[in-house]
Amino acid sequence: MPIRGVIFDLDNTLVASDLDFELMRREMGLSGSLPLLEAIAELPPADAERCWDILAAHEQQGAQRATLFAGVADFLQMAADRGLARAVLTRNSRAHTLSTLARLALDFNPVICREDGPVKPDPAAIWKICAAWGFAPSECVMIGDYRFDIEAGQRAGTHTVLFTGGGGPSDLEHCRPPCFVLASFAEPAELWQWLERIGLEGSGGCC
Ligand SMILES: [Mg+2]
Repeated sequence: MPIRGVIFDLDNTLVASDLDFELMRREMGLSGSLPLLEAIAELPPADAERCWDILAAHEQQGAQRATLFAGVADFLQMAADRGLARAVLTRNSRAHTLSTLARLALDFNPVICREDGPVKPDPAAIWKICAAWGFAPSECVMIGDYRFDIEAGQRAGTHTVLFTGGGGPSDLEHCRPPCFVLASFAEPAELWQWLERIGLEGSGGCC
């Protein structure tokens, strides 16, 4: 069964936006181990509103300074030339995601953001993307830099690729290893070979 669709994380996978989550947490006064979005959601409404504003300010700056990682434009063109569907799945807001994609002339369909429902690592958004495409999760690949990307892909039943070139932490303590590790989109030959191989072998789910 060939691979038919690729789902990309945005920040630190396709683009360097230098979002500083530790700084955000300090500005928000957040402690504890809950991830940012989940921690804000637990706050009383007034505190949450203040934190959403802080997050929005950081995300806006990130959208304005975001640059493509090396090789991303060519990789996306190669994916398009091979007839692969391409989606973005991000915990970022829709406004700042669309702003980033428009400024960098990137085209994905669909683009799923945090307003669209349960965020990664929940697998629901991946199932939604697969349903929109009409593909099985096992025909798709989730590529991202963080454990939530890998965990979401594994829970949804896609193949998974960990991108390590963004320099961010790749804390995979809480999930199984990804199917493939990609250091740079500028050197995609092995990734393409792997995608062709798993497509030919028809291995279902995460390999
Ligand atoms: Mg990311």
